[in-house]
This record gives sequence, structure tokens and C-alpha cells, in this order.
Amino acid sequence: MTSSSHQTDWHAIRADFPILNQEVRGHPLIYFDSAASSQKPRAVLDALLHYYERDNANVHRGLHELSSRATEAYENARSKVARYLNAATPEEIVFTRGTTEGINLVAQAWGSRFVREGDVILLTEMEHHSNLVPWQLLAQRTGATLRFIPVNEDGTLDLTELPSLLTPEVKIFAFTHISNSLGTINPAAELIAASHAVGAITLLDAAQSGGHLPLDVQALNADFVVISGHKMCAPTGIGALYGSAELLEATPPWHGGGEMIVSVGFQSSTYKPAPYKFEAGTPNIAGAVGLGAAIDYLEAIGRDAIFAHDADLAAYAMRRLRELPDLRIHGPERRGGLVGFTMPAIHPHDLTTYADRYGLALRGGHHCNQPLMKKFRLPGTTRASFYFYNTKEEIDRMTEILFQAHHFFA
Ligand code: PLP
Repeated sequence: MTSSSHQTDWHAIRADFPILNQEVRGHPLIYFDSAASSQKPRAVLDALLHYYERDNANVHRGLHELSSRATEAYENARSKVARYLNAATPEEIVFTRGTTEGINLVAQAWGSRFVREGDVILLTEMEHHSNLVPWQLLAQRTGATLRFIPVNEDGTLDLTELPSLLTPEVKIFAFTHISNSLGTINPAAELIAASHAVGAITLLDAAQSGGHLPLDVQALNADFVVISGHKMCAPTGIGALYGSAELLEATPPWHGGGEMIVSVGFQSSTYKPAPYKFEAGTPNIAGAVGLGAAIDYLEAIGRDAIFAHDADLAAYAMRRLRELPDLRIHGPERRGGLVGFTMPAIHPHDLTTYADRYGLALRGGHHCNQPLMKKFRLPGTTRASFYFYNTKEEIDRMTEILFQAHHFFA
């Protein structure tokens, strides 16, 4: 791998990802589904193997050498996540299974203490189901109501509506940083500042941005931020919730069990401080180790470079896709590294299945954005999502396959 201080050799980086070097159905694999889950570099696979071959034991409990090593590896990973997000301390990082679990933790634990009947939970129309359903459950439980910032035809948020929607009744504004179907990059700092101005806190869904651009929770003045490891080169089943120290302290535990307690009686218990009070039971230790290795790897490349490369690939893909007759691209020009599109004569599922015959991994469907698809009267879209290991040559090959599909389905 080349370091961020030099011109990055994006083609050479592919050698770090063993999985990319294979044929699928007799064709070289083109993996354009990183927004669903990214591939993992050798450094992460090695870190997992090393952990299981040398250090594996339970954390925080044992007084033996392996338990100390496992605990150190786990807590080291927490420090890396803190550094990566520029949290003030590692104690502001809670390990979760991923973005979905992080949002559920906030909606259930913070929400049960701070959201009441008459309060408002503000979302946007472009939220992933993970940042919608947990709030619906909270609203149903508490009698709070949901409001939505509308999405314009071009896939940006209609911020002219902000003053009428972001009112003092809003307790929390939860929004996605990068839309997983439109690619829209929302103005996180501006939205967080506007929320604070009316006394609301915020949750930033950084599932699509965590591995793709620099995230600085202190510069953003963020309250809660959630990320998924598997979308940023780490294994599945690990992610993180950032919460400011003050908010985490005020939030009660949600899962009860071992690890999160100080003392337990038959009738009641006392809890550890954050982040441990939110991590009941044996955690995903190897996953955390893998996430730490992924962070080291991404930092060595540099997130500014990754973001610029993503944007370059997305711009190139849009240019090439526009050569196809009747193809419609959804979402704004300025975007993250993904492009959702429709071809009127071909259902996204058919197109995706056709592409798979040529070793091209796309994703077709509603992308967990059903209300947004309904609003745009779309059956779904086909999405090509890129990461730093993808190339323009692969986009050229995708364009050829789509031309072929256009003739096949005509
Ligand atoms: N939010 C957004 C914007 C996403 O794209 C995704 C996954 O695609 C999620 C939340 C859910 O992430 P996970 O399934 O890793 O919990």
C-alpha cells in the first residue's frame, strides 16, 4: 500500500484485497456493492487470524495473560476508533454490532428517558429504514410525533422547510450523512448547529460516510454518531456509537447482563460508567480488533484521498452512464461514491441479475429506502457503489454490460 503523503497507486491497492482477484461466472469480478458491505484488506484478515491464534480469551474478567492481552487488544481498538472520529476520550466510544444497533441504543435508552408525548423526532425523507423504524417504535411507545425534512427532485434536502420543522418541540434530529441510494452528502455541521440553536440534539448516521471521508466529532460538535465496521473494511458484526461524555452519562443502560455492572443484588444492581454500561455480555472482541486494523489501514491511505477518489469514480460513472439511452440517474451531481439509476424497460432486479452473469456485482431494489422510492414513484433503482479499490476500467466494463442489457431487454 502507498501512503497518503505520496500519490496513491489505486491499482496497486487492489493487491491488498485477495477477494478481488477472482472470476465470477467466467468473468473477472467487478465489485460495485461496497455501500452494502466493503471488502476486507489482508491487514484486517491477518489481524483477525493473529488475535485468534495468539490472544483469544474473554475480556475484563480474567486474571491470566491471554485475558489481559484480549482486553488490551479490545481497549486499544476503542482508542483507535476515538482517534479516527476525533472523540475527546475513548470512553465516548461504545462498541455496537453496527449502525442499526447504535441507532436502536439511542432510540431506546436515551429516548426512553428524554422523549415524551408531544415531543417531536425530526428525520429526513431519505433515511435508511435503520434510521426510521427505531424512531417509529419510540414514537409509538411515547406518543411523540415524527416529522420529515422533504427531499427535492434532485435528491438534496429541501432546507427551506428547516425553520418550520426544526422547532423547539424537536428533541432529536437524526439524519444520514450520505444517502445510501441517492449519494447526497448532507451538510452535517450546518444541521447540527441549527439543531442546537433550538435545543435539540442530533444523531448522525455515518454508515455511508464513516469509511469514506474525514469525520471529526469535535469539529462537528456532534452529539451521537453511528458507524458500521463492515462498510469500512472491517468485519461484520462490529460498529461504534460515539456519544458526547455528557450525553452518555445521562443515558441509562439498555441491555442488562455481565460486564456492564459494578454490583448485583437480587432486587437491583449498580452499573459501570459509559461506555461499559452499554456493553452487556461478551463483546465482539475479534470484530473490534478487526475494526482497529481497518482504521489503521484507512488512515494510512488517508480519508481525503479516499473521498477524492470516490468522487472521481462517481463523476466518471455518471458521465459514462449518460451514454445509455433513457437511463436516468437519481440524486445530485455532487455526491459520495455511489450512483443509483433506472432504465425504464428493465426492472432493477432483472438488470442486477443480468449483470451478475458477467461477474458484475450491482445492487437492485429499494435499498432500505421504501418511503423515498414511493415518493419518487420508483420500483427501486440499480446501484453501483464504489470504494478506493475500484477503477475507471471497471466502470467502462459496467457501461458495456449495461449497453448489452439494453439490447437484450429491448
Ligand atoms: N444507514 C445507512 C445510510 C446505511 O446505508 C445502512 C446500511 O446500508 C445502515 C444505516 C444500516 O447499517 P448496518 O446494516 O450496518 O447496521
